[in-house]
Amino acid sequence: MQKSKQTPNYKQAKFLTSAAQLSQLPNDTGVEVAFIGRSNVGKSSALNALTGQKNLVRVSKTPGRTQLINLFALSDTQRLVDLPGYGYAKVSKKTKQDWEKLIDAYLRKRSCLRGLVLLMDIRHPLQEFDVQLLTWTKQINLPIHILLTKTDKLSFGAGKNISQKVQKEVMKINSAASIQLFSAHKSIGHDELKKTLNQWFRS
Ligand code: GDP
Repeated sequence: MQKSKQTPNYKQAKFLTSAAQLSQLPNDTGVEVAFIGRSNVGKSSALNALTGQKNLVRVSKTPGRTQLINLFALSDTQRLVDLPGYGYAKVSKKTKQDWEKLIDAYLRKRSCLRGLVLLMDIRHPLQEFDVQLLTWTKQINLPIHILLTKTDKLSFGAGKNISQKVQKEVMKINSAASIQLFSAHKSIGHDELKKTLNQWFRS
């Protein structure tokens, strides 16, 4: 069995490198799964929860602090990719355009990219750039899985209700997308996320 087709051990995640541009990324081989979302959506917390490491990714109360792509190795051939957060109000138009170009290029050109996890705060889903990402991934046929984050802030019933409504909207934009409830703090949806990631890493 090829090493890259193994079920990853998320607990083994180790920081690999940061890249400000595509040319600084490691060789385009093996399998990558990338995480993306607005600043403050809970992306760092989700990656820490997934890997069972409290400090793998720095959780911050100052959104938009980094514009780098951060890569974490699960094995020689499997990587988790933390894409820079977007939507931070105080960044300049130029920074926003640079960010869009970098993400667009990464999504379109990275051959080892197997899937994208899009995080949306359950209380503020489907913002402008979330919709753009759903459209892009549809155009390039890239699998996308949505985490509705911080669901512990709502009752289970309210969360389910919103999830169903968002799913309906998502299906209109990208019918191949999947969606789930998630909370980094309350152990909601962790196994479901791993199931999707495992499928991508093994495909
Ligand atoms: P990032 O900017 O997307 O990486 O978001 P962070 O992981 O740094 O989280 C931003 C803020 O949201 C922090 O104050 C976290 O403690 C909080 N947060 C993250 N995940 C959850 C969650 O599942 N539930 C709750 N209630 N808060 C969360």
